[in-house]
Amino acid sequence: MRRAIQHTIPLLILAAAIGSCGARGPERRNSDPGITPSSPEKIVKSDEEWKAELTPEQFRVTRQAATERAFTGKYWNAKDAGTYHCVCCGEELFSSSTKYESGCGWPSFYDEIQQGNIITRADHSTGMLRTEIVCQKCDAHLGHVFEDGPEPTGLRYCVNSASMTFRPAQD
Ligand SMILES: [Zn+2]
Repeated sequence: MRRAIQHTIPLLILAAAIGSCGARGPERRNSDPGITPSSPEKIVKSDEEWKAELTPEQFRVTRQAATERAFTGKYWNAKDAGTYHCVCCGEELFSSSTKYESGCGWPSFYDEIQQGNIITRADHSTGMLRTEIVCQKCDAHLGHVFEDGPEPTGLRYCVNSASMTFRPAQD
């Protein structure tokens, strides 16, 4: 009995601490990345600057939310062990350990490498609601996330190869 009571108190404190942080913030609005208040690490560049650093295909996909054609990207069929990074800013996005063959023609992952590196936002561009995935650091368009993936998450991160660079595992 004493043990149970002793455990209750820290839990209550924890609950209060979480409560004081407030509910999870509202979905971040990034429709105006240049104006939105940003975290210190946020990378903001003009289209001209991005154009100078990226290939035309990378620019269209990451900065203009274009979609590469299925089965044409560099990584849709890649199986090597390593990590996938944002082509614009180098942020870690996915591990090859969560990559799987979805059959859709784009690199597909069932999880992100670290929560917070990718942010989501509603995308109504095609008339149906989809969930866009975006690099949290530089707002690069990556692709979309769907709820038809495998366990344990049930998610399918459907990503353009053009938005990523691959770094092989070192061992
Ligand atoms: Zn990025």
